[in-house]
Amino acid sequence: MFYLGCHLSASKGYLHMGKEALSIGANTFQFFTRNPRGSKAKRLDEKDVAALLTLTAANGFAPLLAHAPYTLNPCSADQKVRDFAHMVMADDMEIMGNLPGNYYTFHPGSHVGQGIEAGLELVVDLLNQVLGPQLTTTVLLETMSGKGSEVGSTFEELRFIIDNTDHSDKLGVCLDTCHIYSAGYDIINDLDGVLDQFNSIVGLDRLKAIHLNDSLTPFATHKDRHAKIGEGTLGMETIVNFINHPRLRGLPFYLETPNDVQGYAAEIKLLRSAYRQ
Ligand code: FE
Ligand code: FE
Ligand code: ZN
Repeated sequence: MFYLGCHLSASKGYLHMGKEALSIGANTFQFFTRNPRGSKAKRLDEKDVAALLTLTAANGFAPLLAHAPYTLNPCSADQKVRDFAHMVMADDMEIMGNLPGNYYTFHPGSHVGQGIEAGLELVVDLLNQVLGPQLTTTVLLETMSGKGSEVGSTFEELRFIIDNTDHSDKLGVCLDTCHIYSAGYDIINDLDGVLDQFNSIVGLDRLKAIHLNDSLTPFATHKDRHAKIGEGTLGMETIVNFINHPRLRGLPFYLETPNDVQGYAAEIKLLRSAYRQ
């Protein structure tokens, strides 16, 4: 099954996202649990969530992917920023408790001058506070491009976080195609090699979700600029190789390309026609 969806706005509620996904040929989607730049989550409407879960079950959706706000930085040097990250992630885990069995991805953060080791330890600290055996959500570390002082742009860094987190059974990885290319993993010329490397360092069993994006910037430039599918430095051929790679079969793909809903509908149609059954 080719599980493909895109980022959708939660502003009209949960059921609305499910219906919108169906209307554009998607069988999963990504959403923000709260304003991506803000903090306060809306109170969850339980009936709305229940209606969405009925719809996704009836239509064979892949797990839904919630995305943490961009303002969440567990490895800031500022204690207040770290406390905020803890508060938000703990609250998001409660929200996600109403949608059991789904995914939650977050950016490991930026160490802002403290050094990568200190940053990694702080990410681990947060995960050791928030993750526990009661969680029904798998928390995904997103692969980052390494812009500024971003943590999580190498497979080794992800491995360190997983190895040092107590409840690492609750952890997985969300691989972003734009980010890894920008981080210096050459998925154009050596996709097999990159996946081998991922497998030997992190383990492909940890890979739960793909952010499928083209990139506006050249290889290994450590920038984070998404492009529409086929309109960036990755190009259509690489994207088609990616969605059809035997080692990535069955994984859910989520578009985060600069599009409105109609633009996403067109990309989903294009990608479905390029998927080899
Ligand atoms: Fe992200
Ligand atoms: Fe992403
Ligand atoms: Zn990005």
